[in-house]
Amino acid sequence: MSNTTEDIFKNVIAHAKEYGFVFPSSEIYDGLSAVYDYGQNGSELKNNLKTYWWKAMVQMNDNIVGIDSAIFMHPTIWKASGHVDGFSDPMIDNKDSKKRYRADQLLEDRIASLDEEGKTSEAEELQLEMDNALKAENLPRLRELIIEQNIKCPVSGTANWTDVRQFNLMFSTQVGAIADESDTIYLRPETAQGIFVNYLNVQKSGRMKIPFGIAQIGKAFRNEVIARQFIIRMREFEQMEMQFFVRPGTQREWFDKWKETRLKWHLALGTAPEKYRYHEHTKLAHYADAAYDIEFNFPFGFKEVEGIHSRTDFDLSQHEKFSRKKMQYFDPEVDPETGKPYGNYVPYVIETSIGLDRMFLLTLINAYEEEDLSTEERQDSRTVLRLHPCLAPVKAAIFPLTKKDGLPEKAREIMDSLKLDFNLQYEEKDAIGKRYRRQDAIGTPFCITVDHQTLEDNTVTIRHRDTMAQERVPADQLDKIIGDLVSWKNVL
Ligand code: ATP
Repeated sequence: MSNTTEDIFKNVIAHAKEYGFVFPSSEIYDGLSAVYDYGQNGSELKNNLKTYWWKAMVQMNDNIVGIDSAIFMHPTIWKASGHVDGFSDPMIDNKDSKKRYRADQLLEDRIASLDEEGKTSEAEELQLEMDNALKAENLPRLRELIIEQNIKCPVSGTANWTDVRQFNLMFSTQVGAIADESDTIYLRPETAQGIFVNYLNVQKSGRMKIPFGIAQIGKAFRNEVIARQFIIRMREFEQMEMQFFVRPGTQREWFDKWKETRLKWHLALGTAPEKYRYHEHTKLAHYADAAYDIEFNFPFGFKEVEGIHSRTDFDLSQHEKFSRKKMQYFDPEVDPETGKPYGNYVPYVIETSIGLDRMFLLTLINAYEEEDLSTEERQDSRTVLRLHPCLAPVKAAIFPLTKKDGLPEKAREIMDSLKLDFNLQYEEKDAIGKRYRRQDAIGTPFCITVDHQTLEDNTVTIRHRDTMAQERVPADQLDKIIGDLVSWKNVL
């Protein structure tokens, strides 16, 4: 049994690998830092999270549509968006260990330890100093703060630091056969720009009226200075973003609405509300006039899972400037104040941006439980993933009680009648108890056992993951029983 939250986190990572959720990428070559692969159960869980998001955003809102834009885009897009000049982290190297750190993270760790030591006012002061230095892009000041705080490299133990430098997070590559500066393109660091540059295509072809949204799920790439905390900070990851286009002046109202709506989406899965909190940004990104993060309490503290940003008309106006194409929308609605149509304008944008991989980790951690089942007679325990049934990779497992007497054939027949609608697993190896444990470990909500009685009256036993209770039900009702429990209606 694990004691500390640190142990639990280690166990979750080990569990994710052992049960086919997440593998280190290129593992036989000792892995590739901050890159991971999703296994057979992980990809099912990830797909279910995507479906939950897509249904909530696109299917349930008739003014939101989804697109799938390319990862490669015209390089000028990243000039216009500010990423070529501004998408960077301040980094610092220790001259003795040659290790590289993010200057802001060294300071944040220091702030957290001051807080832990009860030195709240010192922590607050440092936070303020750091925010000011970041806002002013005052790199020498960041270094001064690191020196003043006597922050040492955890590897060398010295404070022998280089200057702080900006490090751009975009990966670049070349298109075509001849490598030349003008052929440099970037792997997108966010999916949002694919939405911005298509906004008029979608608006016109879909006859969309403001306010409307465009959603997208896709890969994003960032050359993170340091990778840490498993799939929290990856170099290749997936985002689920939605840009909501609104009339200028109404952005605050929509910002508040989306901030609330998105937290509700998280809570509908049954997660305890105290595990979430909002965090308001003090240092706003170059494009934003307001920003909140939705944070989850991971075993290593509260971390951002989703950002809600009021991006103003920054991106569209920049694209108008750089592409010399009109990015305006004609709003025929009449302004009650002037009695005239609102007319042409560049819309304002509220963005909701969630990291799929962080959502995945949150879901896994939240579901993971090492449950003590000991009785007076004997010690016993199980590891169970209490995933919401909508998210469970396998919806039900089907077991013949034994490998003979026609039970496997009957179990297969039942499986065949259900497998079009649900992802199922058939298992006949080992004792039933062992098979239950394996399914608990991947979060399967139901185990269905086919026994000799099934051959007589076509009933089966269902064993429920959370309560471990068993009941006998007619096999022809399984469709409805499973269907009701895993229905998206339970969360949407
Ligand atoms: P952080 O401050 O943690 O680096 P960010 O503020 O740069 O995150 P955004 O640019 O707002 O993140 O991206 C939106 C979402 O994408 C984040 O809330 C997060 O869930 C996810 N995300 C960002 N960077 C990564 C990464 N390197 N690996 C995994 N997910 C990420």
